[in-house]
Amino acid sequence: MRTLSKSKLLAFRQCPKRLWLEIHAPQLREDSGATLASFATGHQVGDIARQIYDPQQRGQLIDPQADGFDAAFARTQTLLRARQPIFEAGFRAEGALAFADVLLPAGQGWRMVEVKSSTSVKDYHRDDAAVQAFVARACGVPLRSIALAHIDNSWTYPGGGDYQGLLVEADLTDEAFARTDEVRGWIAEAQTVAARKKAPPIATGAQCTDPYECGFLTHCQSQEPQAEHPVHWLPRPGNAIKAHIEAHGTRELRDLPDDLLNPTQQRVKSATLSGQAFFDQHAAAQALAAHKLPGYFIDFETIQFGVPIWQGTRPYQQIPFQFSVHRLARTGRVEHQAFLDLTGRNPSLAFAQALIGACGERGPVFVYNAAFEQTRIRELAERHPRLAPALHAINDRIVDLLPVARQHYYHPSQQGSWSIKAVLPAMFADSHPDLRYDNLDGVQDGGAAQQAYLEAIAPATSAARRAELERQLLAYCHLDTWAMVRLWGAFTNTPLKA
Ligand code: SF4
Repeated sequence: MRTLSKSKLLAFRQCPKRLWLEIHAPQLREDSGATLASFATGHQVGDIARQIYDPQQRGQLIDPQADGFDAAFARTQTLLRARQPIFEAGFRAEGALAFADVLLPAGQGWRMVEVKSSTSVKDYHRDDAAVQAFVARACGVPLRSIALAHIDNSWTYPGGGDYQGLLVEADLTDEAFARTDEVRGWIAEAQTVAARKKAPPIATGAQCTDPYECGFLTHCQSQEPQAEHPVHWLPRPGNAIKAHIEAHGTRELRDLPDDLLNPTQQRVKSATLSGQAFFDQHAAAQALAAHKLPGYFIDFETIQFGVPIWQGTRPYQQIPFQFSVHRLARTGRVEHQAFLDLTGRNPSLAFAQALIGACGERGPVFVYNAAFEQTRIRELAERHPRLAPALHAINDRIVDLLPVARQHYYHPSQQGSWSIKAVLPAMFADSHPDLRYDNLDGVQDGGAAQQAYLEAIAPATSAARRAELERQLLAYCHLDTWAMVRLWGAFTNTPLKA
């Protein structure tokens, strides 16, 4: 019988095929940038948890990757006799193995804590705790309790490396201990799947992204017949549409009945099937007619840390480090300003001051998806009350171009998305290479901008590399606001003087 790790059992809980692929074809797995970033945050939170749970540093850390599993299990048994905190204590029993993030002496027994970088307890955390408790108890560990520690995103970092308060615990003892037979059943079923010669015949579906994105999605989709016009191009499908797709196995947009679709969805369907773009330029111009020039087109890039690095900031708070502003005068003349702070210090105050300077005092402030920029500006005002009146005044001038695009423009190549990165190439096609994100060097999307920022502020990054990243970030954010100017020009049928 194969011994299955806790992560394999949780993969089985998500999808039996995923377990099979993890074991028999791990090379097919492709973790997204977001998944890799969440792994990195998980490691950071694990490091901080050791400080929090063992402030006197009397505990021992076991490293199964370096020492090997057998040595890790043996060392765990030795350390259990010493009755000091143990980190990554390893256990193997009844066909499963698991490593506990934190194990603390509690009376004559032990208290176990699983540490997660999320901000709440999810159902799969409950499965995780059930497996963890099962394996440790099956190994003979007198476990008194098990808790899940997750990030408290209402906590504010006081600075100085003091992370007491970053984590809050939820006690899962009763439910985890009550699931012994259930866990035994998972192990038995997972063993059967693992022993199969071929992967279970499971089609892609909701389980591929819930509770988290599966790294085999590209592989699994490549094995399935491709729809010509997939139903997932339909924007914002409601429950009735989802139920219809589920009940009828609908894959093609043309097979969805029109009476289930709202006007926007019908427009997407008909533009997709006809191959013809929809553009009501007159209505788009009317929607923008009340907003007289000069206009300011703004876009922010932000960074967030599960473990805050700047005093006065909260976990996962989005902190803007860069903006681009294009100013469009009544004459049609366009000017540009940019802000980018790569010092590694909290950029908030300098960002807010520069933004106030760049946005002038009157005229519409155009954004694409207003909630994002408006929320960041409101948060800046909370953190810097002296600047609050000027920041709120900018928010009062914001005009969102996204609903204008959504209501009055659609091209089949958008595939159901009104992201500016979908609308821009659709509207201007290949005749404008300066408007193509895929022509940018290095940074071509928000995720890459965050990675570039983190690399640029890292002390080990050379000055030359930092300069290169700075150039890429500036070019990327510039294109975001230049794209908005061009959309505005197309909506209002106005010539521009760059
Ligand atoms: S992509 Fe979906 S179907 Fe394929 S293994 Fe992952 S969860 Fe299962």
